Amino acid sequence: MTIDRVDLRSDTVTKPCSAMMHAMQNADVGDDVYGEDPTVIELQRYLSEMTGHEAGLFFPSGVQSNLVALLTYLGRGDEYIVGQNAHTYKYEGGGAAALGGIQPQPIEEGSDGVMDLNKVEATIKLDDIHFAKTKLLALENTTGGRVVSLEYMKSAQALCLKHGLQFHLDGARIFNAAVALEKEVGELTGMFDSVSVCLSKGLGAPIGSVLVGSSDFIERAKRWRKTVGGGMRQSGILAAAGLYAIQNNVQRLKDDHDLMAYLVEGLSQFSDIIIQDDQVHTNMIFFDLHSKKYDELLEYGKACGVLFGGRQPVRMVTHKDLTKDHIDLALDRLSGFFS
Ligand SMILES: *Cc1c(COP(=O)(O)O)cnc(C)c1O
Repeated sequence: MTIDRVDLRSDTVTKPCSAMMHAMQNADVGDDVYGEDPTVIELQRYLSEMTGHEAGLFFPSGVQSNLVALLTYLGRGDEYIVGQNAHTYKYEGGGAAALGGIQPQPIEEGSDGVMDLNKVEATIKLDDIHFAKTKLLALENTTGGRVVSLEYMKSAQALCLKHGLQFHLDGARIFNAAVALEKEVGELTGMFDSVSVCLSKGLGAPIGSVLVGSSDFIERAKRWRKTVGGGMRQSGILAAAGLYAIQNNVQRLKDDHDLMAYLVEGLSQFSDIIIQDDQVHTNMIFFDLHSKKYDELLEYGKACGVLFGGRQPVRMVTHKDLTKDHIDLALDRLSGFFS
């Protein structure tokens, strides 16, 4: 097959493979609003067990899964602490504030992508009628493609225990972190009160996220999922894709990371690109240009069939529907811009 387009915009562009489609077609289904879809039940059980939690809940999207976690823990006038660039805060339409009256307290991340925990602690409000009630700390892993260390997450957990905060992880790409760290995913997720995991990123399912936590939390979350319109019926068709993804596509995330390393090596020949390869841990790179010709590069890429995201910085993401041939072609075409 000849390649005419290289899509490096996101790992969300992956399409279900034929084995995944087969699993979807053959899924045993029921009405999940009545709790009767065996495939959804199995996906929730499988993922909660794997991540070290009592129960799970299937959602159509990661945005809804994070939103419902916040709505379940927090009420009007409550506050959660979150990174300034975190998806939950910056890329989810302000949902917690818009729909839940929940105040975010964003904190700027350092160059390592995480919030300074001293700053987090200093931001926790005193019990005083002037202040919102600080009730939760939200982390993200991976964040901007970077892996958050186990040590950092343990320190953050200790802080939450000390101050009685709930501890939520936006683990949209937590399997990328687990593969990069060569750890079982449960080691990275068991310490949180709740975790949201995406099935539709590098894992390659067409749709879906799972929220995991205690049985009591998940029971309460189920109400909120219904309230925001996330109750689905024969969703086992979708859960089957998620199960297939979890059972077959986790270890292969390493291929995406290796392909990213190959891309970074190729990009480093272009002197205009400011490469910080210590920031590339998984399947994403963000880079600036000395020339600042961001719009021109984006347009050039589009015109020659090399798609990527971001304006400044530029963002490129590898995924299961790309091979070295795609990367070679992308580098070859982009060399026309940089020469
Ligand atoms: C993709 C993503 C989500 C969920 O977004 P959806 O578009 O709903 O899938 C949440 N957090 C992070 C960090 C993500 O990358």
